[in-house]
Amino acid sequence: MKSHAKAVVIGGGVVGCSVLYHLAKAGWADIMLIERSELTSGSSWHAAGGFHTLNGDPNVAKLQAYTVRLYKEIEEISGQSCSLHLTGGVMMADTPERMDFLRLAHAKGRYLGMDTELITPSEAKAMFPLMDETNFVGAMWDPVEGHLDPSGTTHAYAKAARKLGAEIVLRNRVVELTQEVDGTWNVVTEQGTVKAEHVVNCGGLWAREIGRMVGVELPVLAMEHMYLLTEPMPEVEEFNKSTGREMIGVLDFKGEIYTRQERNGILLGTYEKACKPWSPVNTPWDFGHELLQPDIDRIAPSLEIGFKHFPGIEKAGIKQIINGPFTFALDGNPLVGPVQGLTNFWCACAVMAGFSQGGGVGLALSNWMVHGDPGFDVWGMDVARFGEWATLRYTNAKVRENYSRRFSIRFPNEELPAARPAQTTPLYDTMLANNAVLGDSWGLETPLWFAPRGSEPKDVVSFHRSNDFRPIGEEVRATRERVGVTEIANFAKYEVSGPGAEDFLNRLMTNRMPKTGRIVLTPMLNEFGRLIGDFTIAKAGPRGGEDRFMIWGSSAAQKYHMRWFEKHLPKDGSIRIHRFDQMLVGLSIAGPKSRDLLQKLVDVDISTKAFRFMDFREMAVGGAPCMVNRITYTGDLGYEIWMAPAYQRLVYKAIKEAGEEFGLVDFGMRALLSMRLEKNFPTWFRELRPIYGPFEGSMDRFIKLEKNDFIGREAAAKEQAEGPKLRRVSFIVDAADADVMGDEPIWAKVGGKDYGTVEKPHGYGAPRFDAGGKEVRGSNAAEGASAVRGIVDGDCRVVGWVTSGGYAHYVEKSMAQGYVPAALAENESAGLFEIEILGHRRPARINVEPPFDPSGEKMRT
Ligand SMILES: Cc1cc2nc3c(=O)[nH]c(=O)nc-3n(C[C@H](O)[C@H](O)[C@H](O)COP(=O)(O)OP(=O)(O)OC[C@H]3O[C@@H](n4cnc5c(N)ncnc54)[C@H](O)[C@@H]3O)c2cc1C
Repeated sequence: MKSHAKAVVIGGGVVGCSVLYHLAKAGWADIMLIERSELTSGSSWHAAGGFHTLNGDPNVAKLQAYTVRLYKEIEEISGQSCSLHLTGGVMMADTPERMDFLRLAHAKGRYLGMDTELITPSEAKAMFPLMDETNFVGAMWDPVEGHLDPSGTTHAYAKAARKLGAEIVLRNRVVELTQEVDGTWNVVTEQGTVKAEHVVNCGGLWAREIGRMVGVELPVLAMEHMYLLTEPMPEVEEFNKSTGREMIGVLDFKGEIYTRQERNGILLGTYEKACKPWSPVNTPWDFGHELLQPDIDRIAPSLEIGFKHFPGIEKAGIKQIINGPFTFALDGNPLVGPVQGLTNFWCACAVMAGFSQGGGVGLALSNWMVHGDPGFDVWGMDVARFGEWATLRYTNAKVRENYSRRFSIRFPNEELPAARPAQTTPLYDTMLANNAVLGDSWGLETPLWFAPRGSEPKDVVSFHRSNDFRPIGEEVRATRERVGVTEIANFAKYEVSGPGAEDFLNRLMTNRMPKTGRIVLTPMLNEFGRLIGDFTIAKAGPRGGEDRFMIWGSSAAQKYHMRWFEKHLPKDGSIRIHRFDQMLVGLSIAGPKSRDLLQKLVDVDISTKAFRFMDFREMAVGGAPCMVNRITYTGDLGYEIWMAPAYQRLVYKAIKEAGEEFGLVDFGMRALLSMRLEKNFPTWFRELRPIYGPFEGSMDRFIKLEKNDFIGREAAAKEQAEGPKLRRVSFIVDAADADVMGDEPIWAKVGGKDYGTVEKPHGYGAPRFDAGGKEVRGSNAAEGASAVRGIVDGDCRVVGWVTSGGYAHYVEKSMAQGYVPAALAENESAGLFEIEILGHRRPARINVEPPFDPSGEKMRT
């Protein structure tokens, strides 16, 4: 074993081997993989080997599609077969709600370039005759599904990596990780120490233990998982003989079951409700190629449904039940990327579907390590998406919830209960007493809406408008006409200070930094000119002669943004960044009476001229020291008031008492989001994501190309010079009883006109490789992009996609935001657009000016 390497990958499961292969392919020569035992000694060897492309996150779905395409390539390079069976598969819906879910998935899949098809239960039965089709109302066919040989596939990656020069060391456990002052890692193994620039945790079942070697508790947990194999079945053999085809894969939502042909019999796996974590605190190092004891009682309820839905299988004898552990993160997607707070320590773990996702994970991570950027929108699997609140016990509760709902529908208004409440503000009990329906916002209990007195504060989950519709309408109207108060503790808050703070922020942000006491809104770009942040920044008065900036942003992106800030901090320690998290909480008051209300609580003049729109001031509110921004996301006259948690109850009580004479109401996050819609305001992670440029995102007025050489400036200037291909727009939709949820296709009656190939960007900027191994730079046209192509119906075609929307209660319109070709972005013609909601195309019209207060007069008064 050599003593130095550019990168050491720990773990020889399918994921580690894929990472090694992709690093070697990207040109890193001096790399090695260290495996505790033999390859596939974790969960990889006993996997059922199924693969598919569908995923709730369209970006993860694209990486899954890449994984499936990759198998041919690694077979060719390695000479090792993966035993690929591309059978196709169906998802079976047993209720109209599940059918709505499939319609949504199908609509989304279409512009992502997936060839899914909605079919009848009888059509599904023709491909899988063991089912009783009368149990179902419909199905969705996906041709890119199948199964493979897990061990062969892992070895194919490994052999291909070796051929490209990578080294693999077996039977050698990594026992310790330490880091030198210069950043070099000491990878201490049973056979000696390797000095490495980079370390990658691909430890699978032991990923948590490897994280602990560097002081990180990764939110990952192994679960026991069972599948059964039947004896050979004459029905299967007969089907194969008469059709010349293998039986397809079937996914049954109701029973949380998947099933497919395995040799001449059937394989059936379950995600049972009474699921069981494996080694919940520590994974034993001596666990090897062994299986766990099957527990048929645990999966009996699922099997009962399975045998009812697939009576053909019940008759068969069970040959074997496999029970093995594999790992999950809280939401079932992988943990990939650099760990915030550490240097050159990377993760590719919690990959629960290694044979669907391993290739995409390897590609994204190798891009990130080699080129400094994953090259794709990988937020859905970024290790930074969970906060410190995702502790061992929190993870345990959430992973069990996720496992037992593996194939369940998540409704757009559905909040999941496990591990809650975790974080609460001092107002938690007050909000409960106010009949608030609370939601989980990055681990924090946050009021969503307030149920009428006497009614149960609970969402009726649905794809259609639900029981929150009227109360939210009342919250919005009262706020717009009088005044409302809401909690905004869930925003991210940072303070940047030090002598060079202004220069530092000017280098990171696209807008000019504000003067003392003023606020600016500013996007942040990466080197490729793509949107990676959107902030509100205020310049506070100097402290000890040093500049001080307050920054507010998206709560879910706190670790993601801290990672970026830390990467760009000067090494001399001259600039400090403090993330407040819940040590700073907030309240927002909004509406025409909000100034009168606030004036009663402060001892300074806050008249229009004395405290202008976009002013920032430190002042006492109701006797508590606070920071106040004259700005609100509702787009009305309003204020954001920030205070230490110890003062939040005092300030809230003062606001409630002072607000009585103005008819003050409480409003929740859903009313806030409804109000931002009628102002055409975007949201981070929906409208604004790293797949879009700033001009595509219609953020033009915040991009000051002439101010200085900020990160991404050159690419942004190019985007502006060439003209953005896409534009973010707002629509008014002629909806029925359901509004858009996000990701719906946008159709236009464009006749024979060609607006160019419209692509849903997925990859961006960073160099990456197409399926043929050719490097592709700076283009959306590689495998990551989804051309909205060929989806034509008469003179209509799909020209874009929705990012978010809902009902705008004050203007009484259903609204949506999304991306369309720039040439269509200002076309407000009625009859031009349609947006597909739950499978029905509804007329929609672009609304260039926001329907509420288009001149912005109300927020400036
Ligand atoms: C019953 C069952 C059925 C499944 N069915 C499917 C399926 O149909 N489709 C699908 O896609 N997925 C399936 N999976 C999941 C799949 O097995 C996993 O997604 C995949 O194996 C994860 O691979 P990995 O490389 O991340 O982890 P692992 O396979 O666990 O590999 C981790 C490796 O790291 C090594 N290691 C750990 N710590 C150290 C150390 N300190 N030093 C050196 N080496 C170390 C281990 O020895 C191990 O070889 C199934 C899993 C089970 C249990």
